[in-house]
Amino acid sequence: MSGEGSYFTEAVETMDRGDLDALIEERIRYTVNFASEHSPFYRQWFREHKIDAASIRSHEDLRELPIISGQTIREHQPPETSEFQFKSLDWREIFTLHETSGTSGTPKAFFLSWADWQRYAEKYAQIFVSQGFGPGDRVVVCASYGMNVGANTMTLAAQKIGMTIIPEGKCAFPLRIIHSYKPTGLVGSVFKLLRLARRLQVAHIRPPDSSVERLVVGGESFAEESRAYLAELWGCPVYNTYGSTEGTMCGECSELKGLHVPEDMVHLDVYDPHLADFVPEGECGRIVLTTLLPVGEKCGTLLLNYDTEDTTVVLSRDRCACGRTHLRIMTPQREAETFWVAETPFNRVDVERGVFQRENMEYLTGEYEAFLYGGDDMGETTMRVSVECFDPEKCDRNVVEEHFLKAFFQYKQRLAEAHAEGTFNLVFNFVGPQDLELYRVTGRPKRLVDRR
Ligand SMILES: [Zn+2]
Repeated sequence: MSGEGSYFTEAVETMDRGDLDALIEERIRYTVNFASEHSPFYRQWFREHKIDAASIRSHEDLRELPIISGQTIREHQPPETSEFQFKSLDWREIFTLHETSGTSGTPKAFFLSWADWQRYAEKYAQIFVSQGFGPGDRVVVCASYGMNVGANTMTLAAQKIGMTIIPEGKCAFPLRIIHSYKPTGLVGSVFKLLRLARRLQVAHIRPPDSSVERLVVGGESFAEESRAYLAELWGCPVYNTYGSTEGTMCGECSELKGLHVPEDMVHLDVYDPHLADFVPEGECGRIVLTTLLPVGEKCGTLLLNYDTEDTTVVLSRDRCACGRTHLRIMTPQREAETFWVAETPFNRVDVERGVFQRENMEYLTGEYEAFLYGGDDMGETTMRVSVECFDPEKCDRNVVEEHFLKAFFQYKQRLAEAHAEGTFNLVFNFVGPQDLELYRVTGRPKRLVDRR
């Protein structure tokens, strides 16, 4: 399905820019006031800074409020403080609580009321419908249930649309699920869905011949090349979603021109790297989120100006060809997966782009890992890229290296110069199936690791 016509909540999704901006400002005022009255953290902040919550009236005024991070949340919850200072409702109104693990320290606690769940589910329902899902669809959710809200949110969203969810929680389900229930959609990560396609091929089933009509990926950023390859293997479109416990649920519509941000429920600002001010429209920066509450509603954990530590670019605030007016962003990337060599930043996704060059995929499974090492001389860096081959003996290593280098250095002139000068070395390591280090580590695989 493409073009205008199918919406979950048409009035909100297609609202004119002027009306949408007015709605956002109304909700900013209500939400900031709610925070100043119900969130212990903000109540204290407004008192200490002698700022009247009513003076925060617009999106620009949000710059008066502090930018908070996962670290701020951890510093304002047990064991650091006696109370959870971001918890904005009484326990009687908290339906579930979630711990989100950061890179270090105590997990952050996040509290959700039933109304929060309903709003989250509505956002996902909008996304599913924008991707062409509708009543009668059957979707296998391979994302894990539990402390992550994504899988449960999609399940609640399905109820609103009239879809059936098959809550597998992982992609390693028996192929019988595909044969027996003929799912029309799968939700998972790029790599999980690649592996599932290979399992079908081993069982002599061409994935395009299966019942699957759409794939939804999320949970991490990926290169356009890996998406294109996944779409080719399955013979169907692959839609990206970007969600987090903090309440971002952005998703690509069937036009695939960026991820729509549900602007009526979450306000997204893009800040410079020092988090001092907004970047000019169209420039890359840090995603800073503010929950927006409809007037009269409440929420369990209220975050204003929350630094996601992800980066993006606002692509457009104009009406999309799908008819939706909500702004569109580029696939966010994790700042924690960005590294610097020769004064040039590059992300794990840049490495992935090099791996997934179409010519390489004749030899590679797509699984890869890369490590950065310091060299013998000062200022020298070596990146060792390990790629998994179907058969290392039959892999044309020159083809893979050549296409990797071309793609990797395409937009990184300074890095290419460092490579030519010998201060940035690339070493390729071709391994057989299951021979990458990441297979021996539990948890989310780290594909680019700095060992300098
Ligand atoms: Zn659209």
